[in-house]
Amino acid sequence: MRKKILAGLLLCGMLWSCGGGPAQEEAIDYSTLDEAELLAAASALSQRLIIVDGHMDLPFRMYNLGHTMEGEVYNFIERQESGNIDYVRAREGGLDAPFMAIYIPAGYQERGGAKDLADTLIMMMDRLVDTWPDKLARATSVADIRRNHEKGLLSLPLGIENAAAIEDDLSLVEYFFDKGVRYMTLTHGKDNLVGDSSYDDSETHGGLSDFGKEVVREMNRLGMIIDVSHITDKTFFDVAELSRAPIVATHSSARHFTPGFERNVSDEIIKKIAEKEGMVMITFGGSFLDENYSKQNSANRAHIQEWLKENNLAMRDEAAQAYIQTYMAENKPSVSVTKVVDHIDHVVKLVGIDYVGLGSDFDGVGDTLPEGLRTLPCIRIFWRSC
Ligand SMILES: [Zn+2]
Repeated sequence: MRKKILAGLLLCGMLWSCGGGPAQEEAIDYSTLDEAELLAAASALSQRLIIVDGHMDLPFRMYNLGHTMEGEVYNFIERQESGNIDYVRAREGGLDAPFMAIYIPAGYQERGGAKDLADTLIMMMDRLVDTWPDKLARATSVADIRRNHEKGLLSLPLGIENAAAIEDDLSLVEYFFDKGVRYMTLTHGKDNLVGDSSYDDSETHGGLSDFGKEVVREMNRLGMIIDVSHITDKTFFDVAELSRAPIVATHSSARHFTPGFERNVSDEIIKKIAEKEGMVMITFGGSFLDENYSKQNSANRAHIQEWLKENNLAMRDEAAQAYIQTYMAENKPSVSVTKVVDHIDHVVKLVGIDYVGLGSDFDGVGDTLPEGLRTLPCIRIFWRSC
């Protein structure tokens, strides 16, 4: 339990503002420390280590807020009341390289405009870096992240979430690689031209499509990381067989704790990822961490959908928002930061510590974050399946 508290505090220290503490250079006997000392040790560690986060949805949140390429730049540099991340909180938590998700909602696959949206989101991230070059930096390699860390700069590496961004054009993989994108999540909420999504039961291709196979080969050729979060198990094993390079789940937790939830990775998949020298980056959304949380969350959604229908209201209506707020205050499930530690421990026990990382999905899972890893609620984002 004590170990778990330390790990929880370390996680908190790594990603959150948990107070300061001197750099710890010597081996410490953590069992002798009280909670405040553990917190200080965790905070000091987080400042010293390079911490990468596999997935954050800041770009799309900024887009939704209307901060695109026109007008005022989103004030990422000062502490914000909303959202899960800004420069101040990242620095306080010792975060060095959060991957910015260039997220393409599945709807763009049908109505078009996926590439344009990806271009816009990438330009928005470039604009942030160009506005504050003394604080932020691009990063397209491990060396970049190390160099930026030494200079005290926060790296903003890029990953595309949903290969719909390349539409049906293989050459766009290289196009986005040249723009600095270093990983691509193959699908999102629906099957796309590349393969099948775990949130979609159509099994359009029964795994990776022929086009998807070409995409995997092209990503291998360029050195773009293949992100296996969001794909079906069948698609995963097709990718694992084909890819010559390590594969990464940038924001998935262990299915061991959420049986039947294909969006999380099974023990078999975790072992395969480790065998290929990849990584499972544990994600923090409550439904990914705990089965009971997920059940309660689904029941709440169903109830609210039903209530909206009965009252002929839409989510955005004021009366609906008021009702949801009251309802959620009474029925919202909760999960602790120690659950994140359970998931980390599970992967460590299964395959070893080299194959586990963090993929928070900050700014993407709203108020479903665990106690100890949360900020202000955002009821609207609660509905997005990340
Ligand atoms: Zn996602």
